[in-house]
Amino acid sequence: MNPYWSALVRDLKPYIPGEQPKLSDLVKLNTNENPYPPSPKVLDAIRGELGASLRLYPDPNCELLKQAIARYQGVGTNQVFVGNGSDEVLAHAFQALLKHPLPILFPDITYSFYPVYCGLYAIAYETVPLTESFEIRIEDYLRPNGGIVFPNPNAPTGRVLPLADIETLLSRNRSSVVIVDEAYIDFGGESAAALVNRFPHLLVIQTLSKSRSLAGLRVGFALGNPELIEALERVKGSFNSYPLDRLAIVGGIAAFDDRDHFEWSRQAIMWTRQWLSQGLADLGFEVLPSAANFLFVRHPGHDGGELAAALRERHIIVRHFKLPRIEQFLRITVGTEEECQILLDALSDLVAGKA
Ligand code: PMP
Repeated sequence: MNPYWSALVRDLKPYIPGEQPKLSDLVKLNTNENPYPPSPKVLDAIRGELGASLRLYPDPNCELLKQAIARYQGVGTNQVFVGNGSDEVLAHAFQALLKHPLPILFPDITYSFYPVYCGLYAIAYETVPLTESFEIRIEDYLRPNGGIVFPNPNAPTGRVLPLADIETLLSRNRSSVVIVDEAYIDFGGESAAALVNRFPHLLVIQTLSKSRSLAGLRVGFALGNPELIEALERVKGSFNSYPLDRLAIVGGIAAFDDRDHFEWSRQAIMWTRQWLSQGLADLGFEVLPSAANFLFVRHPGHDGGELAAALRERHIIVRHFKLPRIEQFLRITVGTEEECQILLDALSDLVAGKA
């Protein structure tokens, strides 16, 4: 290949997504999907849209979906941006809001897409170490910066920052944009959405992939000051003026209409998380406190990579990151009770040394 192109490809560092295997007899606990189906109202809405209307383009502004989100979150429609999953919303936010002469800051252990976006858009960044106990300490971010991004709860640790800490950060860092990625907020954290009217430099990003069981539909959104939202709209419009298809729009609206289903599924996951945590602790695992739909765990006597490989042989997949400081850890999605019991039985054998 032409060496110029080869260098271009080499310098575009790829994001490595969690595996989506084709086998059907797997216990799949590797990509933090919700183990329960989406609301029946979502399925009805999508079925209702499956017809002649697919001939027509969707609403480029996704107005009805934005209204549903705005009503639910208690903000104005002009404070809502929607995109094809929160990954796309994040990509647009990095491009629109984080180009700055100073480096942006994010934790050293965090969502691995952030450095990829920085590479893609030539954004300088510095990583800020988590504390010994894998927490974000906001004092560490109070230095000149071009923007601050972190997930709350953080991934893959599951640790959550109290809303009061985010408020302090926003009060003491007013000269750059702060992006809080709330992909997992509905599993126990307190959303910073309540702060967007008070802090014009705050952007909150959420998704329907996790707590609303719609990872396959690809709907994410951002909440913020109308000016920040306008910046995102301009970037989006330059890529694709139709961010969401018709099925995603009607499905997304229905998801916000069914509060009972949402409550039921998040409570079920939080209950199972507690029960699985205890089961893993009983097997000798160290389990970080989690406010997400996954647990981050390690066993003092067993290598994380080897445990992940041994689980895979038993058709159970969890996530293992070959990264400094977290190499010994496994990230385990909270599945159904039945799936978690299969996992506990397998781990019980493995830590007891049974092949
Ligand atoms: N942020 C974080 C922290 C995540 O873990 C994920 C899921 N991989 C996302 C954003 C993206 O989720 P989605 O694109 O499905 O909305």
